[in-house]
Amino acid sequence: MTDWKLPWNASCLCGRVTMRISAAPMIAMACHCRGCQKLTSGPYSLSLMFPAAALDVQGETEIGGLHRDESVHHFCAHCKNWLYTCGIAGGQFVNFRATMLDDASWVIPYVESYVSEKLPGVVSGARISFDEFPTADRYPELMAGFATAGAKPQ
Ligand SMILES: [Zn+2]
Ligand SMILES: [Zn+2]
Repeated sequence: MTDWKLPWNASCLCGRVTMRISAAPMIAMACHCRGCQKLTSGPYSLSLMFPAAALDVQGETEIGGLHRDESVHHFCAHCKNWLYTCGIAGGQFVNFRATMLDDASWVIPYVESYVSEKLPGVVSGARISFDEFPTADRYPELMAGFATAGAKPQ
């Protein structure tokens, strides 16, 4: 998939953690849930899902957020930037914070979740909206749609 212009480089706010992504994202999602509002300190989280093996991390990270056994939130140890979430689907996937990319200028979420908790006035640009999370059986169709019609690097 050369049209993804891989690999991608990324870093935290202070630059002590650098990351490299070597596979195409499976989906781009915005989540408007109250948890993501608090974690990001913003109106919603913006995630790219990758196979866990596609993410290479250099620098010191630490666990933060809810300190769960699944969906483990990783932060820069120095600037405390939320970087990615591991332990998705038993560790197969990571949800990467798209705004860490050196070039995030092309990212548009394909799906948005928890619009039931969306702040008034927020428009994410997603094509498909769910009141809560999409159920697991919807993901194959959503990923196929993203692969063909989702936003890609210019
Ligand atoms: Zn959320
Ligand atoms: Zn940092």
